[in-house]
Order: sequence, then structure tokens, then C-alpha cells
Amino acid sequence: MERLVGWCFFILTGVASAMPAHTPVPGGIAIVRLGAASHATESPAIHFQGRRVLVVRNANDWLAIVGIPLDTKPGTATLEVEGSGERPPVTHSFVVAAKQYPVQKLTISDHRKVDPQPEDMKRILREQEVITKVRTHWAPGEAVDLALMLPADAPLSSRFGLRRVLNGQSRNPHNGLDLAVPRGTPIRSTAAGSVTFAGDLFFAGKTVFVDHGQGLISMYAHLDEIGVRVGEQLARGQRLGLSGMTGRVTGPHLHWTIYLNGTAVDPEYFIRP
Ligand SMILES: [Zn+2]
Repeated sequence: MERLVGWCFFILTGVASAMPAHTPVPGGIAIVRLGAASHATESPAIHFQGRRVLVVRNANDWLAIVGIPLDTKPGTATLEVEGSGERPPVTHSFVVAAKQYPVQKLTISDHRKVDPQPEDMKRILREQEVITKVRTHWAPGEAVDLALMLPADAPLSSRFGLRRVLNGQSRNPHNGLDLAVPRGTPIRSTAAGSVTFAGDLFFAGKTVFVDHGQGLISMYAHLDEIGVRVGEQLARGQRLGLSGMTGRVTGPHLHWTIYLNGTAVDPEYFIRP
């Protein structure tokens, strides 16, 4: 079993603020040591559940930063090394601990956003296909910045992982963080990256996706106004739109999701001032 590194992110990124030690849990991340990097110039290609994983260099080690899906069962999880040429293939493992997220009950006044009509379902399925492509996209990136800034200076209103009950019905858990911003607040990109989606979605409303490389992808939802186009390169902190209350909402706020290897993880692991 590989030793898990409850490491400080500043070692990885040069940012002078420490990441609290943590245990891999569903919706969290695992930092897994892959071994010596001294002679290898290219980072190893690592996969988790069939998806490529972000790898960073830390002095003489390669570290995999793995996103753990919210529906992962506690127990041992395995990373696979691509093209190791060895039989059996080289693997690394880590242990996922259980985590129980609180329940959140919400009332949505637009009932159609809770119980979509048949024509809505067609649109939702079409959009899900597009979103899946965007959130699972792999763009090579040498120096991925893991120290993310908040997209707006505002208090958190809903945390990641809440088990949601909408109008008395159980729905998917909350896959991002909500920031309490009034309509019209400038929203900025959490890190440098390129815009891979900008459009209007049934549940998320006006939405922007930014790809930061190596499977680290951010999403900004319920915007009032989108100020960027697909293909545009954004600097860290660059404005991408204005907050609003489009899509399925109880009121104005920003919904912010961070994806790693295709899965939504708690953005609070990455937030740096
Ligand atoms: Zn949200």
C-alpha cells in the first residue's frame, strides 16, 4: 500500500499557505506518492476508474492528486499506471474512509425544475452529454495551479456534498459550493485556463466551464450574464460573467463546482486567499 501524503500544497505549488492534513473520503481527494521522479522527465500516466489523473512533481517524487466520486464506497481504491509494460500492471492504492454529509431541504418555487416535463427531459439528456464531455476532458498541463481563488468575495451559503431534498423529493447531492452573491456581482476565474463551455443549461442556468489542465476543471452556474466565449484564455482572477439566478435556484447566488478526473470534489480543499 502506498503511503498517503497529508502534504502541504505549498510544496506542490509554491503558494505559501498550508493545506490541512486530510483523509481521503467520497467527494474529497487522495494525494498518492508514485515514487522517484529523479530520472523521469515525463510524468507517469495514471488512471483512476478509467480516467486520467492529475500528477504533479514534488522534489524527487511524483504525486497523484485524485478526485474521489461522492458515491465511492469506503475501502481500498486502486490507481493504474498506464504502459508500465509490467505483468501484472503496476498499481498504487489508497483507502477511502466513510463520510456522512448533512441533509439539506429546499423549496423550489419553479416546480418544473424539480419535476421536469417530457420535453424538458430531452433537453436535460442532451445537456448531460455535453457536460460529461466538458467535465471529463483531458488537456495536458505542465504546471497546474492547485491554489484556487474564490470566484467572488462572499460568504459560503451551501457547502459541498449536502444530500438534497427538493420540495420533499430526494435529488442528487450538492456537487459544488454556493456563494451568497447578489445579482450582478462580477465572477472571476478561479485559476488560469481556457473556456470550454459557455451557454444556458436547464438546471445550472447560464454557465461557464474553464479547463485548467490535467483534468482540473471549474464550473460557474446561475449567471445573469456570460462575458466570455469558448476558446478564450483566462488569467487567474479574470472576470467571466455576472452572478444571477438563472436555472434551478431558490434565489441569487453563485454555484461553483471543481472537477478532478471527471468527478466533482469539494472546492474547499483548493481555496487559497
Ligand atoms: Zn449549488
